[in-house]
Amino acid sequence: MTDPALPLTSAPLGADIPLERRILTAIPGPRSLALTARRDAAVASGVASALPVYADRAHGGIVVDVDGNQFIDLGAGIGVMTVGHTDPAVLDAVTTQAASLTHAMFTITPYEGYVRVAELLAEHTPGDHAKKSMLVNSGAEAVENAVKIARKHTGRSAVAVLDHAYHGRTNLTMAMTFKAMPYKAGFGPFAPDIHSVPGSYPFRDGLDGPAAAARTIEHLERSIGAADLACIVAEPVQGEGGFIVPAEGYLVALQNWCTENGVVFVADEVQSGMARTGTWFASEHSGLVPDLVTSAKGIAGGYPLGAVTGRAEIMDAAHPGGLGGTFNGNPVSTAAAIAVFEQIRSLDLLGRARRIEGVALPALRALQSRHPIIGDVRGIGAMLAIELVHPATSEPDPASVAAIVRFALQNGVILIAAGTRGNVVRLLPSLVLTDELLLEALDVLGAALESLSPDPA
Ligand code: PMP
Repeated sequence: MTDPALPLTSAPLGADIPLERRILTAIPGPRSLALTARRDAAVASGVASALPVYADRAHGGIVVDVDGNQFIDLGAGIGVMTVGHTDPAVLDAVTTQAASLTHAMFTITPYEGYVRVAELLAEHTPGDHAKKSMLVNSGAEAVENAVKIARKHTGRSAVAVLDHAYHGRTNLTMAMTFKAMPYKAGFGPFAPDIHSVPGSYPFRDGLDGPAAAARTIEHLERSIGAADLACIVAEPVQGEGGFIVPAEGYLVALQNWCTENGVVFVADEVQSGMARTGTWFASEHSGLVPDLVTSAKGIAGGYPLGAVTGRAEIMDAAHPGGLGGTFNGNPVSTAAAIAVFEQIRSLDLLGRARRIEGVALPALRALQSRHPIIGDVRGIGAMLAIELVHPATSEPDPASVAAIVRFALQNGVILIAAGTRGNVVRLLPSLVLTDELLLEALDVLGAALESLSPDPA
C-alpha cells in the first residue's frame, strides 16, 4: 500500500547520494512522524527503535531519512554495514545471485556459495588448525548452535558466560545475556544450566588480566565445576555491554584453563568480528585462538547470515542432520558474504579500521581531557566508546548519553548507546567512512558534550 501522504522519494538509489551531512527539517521530520503514527498502530510495542527517523536510502557512511535529511552513520546498523551501505560489489553479487538461485536449502540440494563461505571462514578465523563451519541466519542462532555443538562434543551441559555479556534474544541466548531490562524481564523461564561469572572490566574493577582471570576461574571451579562445564562463551570485546576490552592476558588465561579442563572456548565475535577492530577477528589482538568462533553482523553486508566456525573435530561432533535450518546460509546471503570478504581485502578495510582508531581515539581522549564526564575512552579499531559518569562518584550517567544521542541526531549524526547501565556512547561506523566525515561527526559529539557541561576553562 502506498500512503498518499508519503510520496515516493525522487532519488531512490543509494549511489546517487552526495556523501554529506544535511539537515533539512525538524528531527524527526513530517514523513518520519507520519510513519511513527502508522507504526504505533501496526507494530508491536516490544520492537522499540532507538531513533525516531525512518531510513529511506543509504550509501557509504551516510543514511538518508524519508524527509531527505542526511546523517553521518556512526552506528552502521550496529556494526553490520562494515563495507558501507549499498556497496557496489555486494549489490552486484546479490542481484546476480537472486536472478540465478535464490533458495535451494543447503540440507536438500546444496550449492557452492555455502561451501565457499565455509572455506573463507576457515581461512580468516584465528588459528591454522583444521576448521569447519555451519551457517545460520543471525547472531543468536550462531551462539545457540555453538552451545549445541560444545555440549555434544563434551557430553557436558553447563555453559558459562561473563557479566555484561550480550548473546541474543532467543530463549537460550536470553539466559546467556546479562542485562535483565529490556532483554529478559518477564520472558522467563529461561534455559537451565547457564552460569554468569565475573569477567574483566578494567575501568570498573581495576584488575589486571591475570587477577581478573583468577577471579573468573575461581567462580567457574567453585560454582560450576570444570567437569560439568561444556563451554565458556565470551566476547573478545564486549559489544552491547559497552565495548569493554578485557585486560591484557585475561582471555588467553581463560582459554588456557579451558584447554587444561576439556572446556570448549567459544569466542562470540558477532559484533567484534569481520574487520571491525582492524584484524579479521578481535581475538587476534590478544593472541587468542578460540575453539569455536561465532560471527554474524558484518559478515554479509546487511544480508542475514551468521556462522559457527571451529576446530573440525568439535564441529563434527554433531551427527548428520543435527544442524541446519530452512534459510540457513541462503544463496543470496552467501553471495553477499563472498563479496564482503573480497571488499575487505581489496579496499584494505583492516587498514581503514586501524586508521579510524588512529583518527578517533586521540580525538575522544582530547574530549575526555575537557569533559570530566567522560570516565573512560576505550576500544580497538572501529569499535570505540566513551563511558559517561558523574565525575565526583564515577556513577554511571545514562541521562547524559541519551541527551548526546538526541543532540547528535538533531545535528545529523547517528550515534548509539551501549552498556549494561546505558552510560556508554559507542562508535562503530562503516569502515569506508572518510576521515573528513568521521572528524565532522566527532565535532558534533564535541558540541553535544559542550551542550551538557560548560567548559571548565
Ligand atoms: N552476540 C553478540 C556479541 C552480539 O552483539 C549480538 C547482537 N547485538 C548477538 C550475539 C545477537 O545477534 P542477532 O541480533 O543477530 O541475533
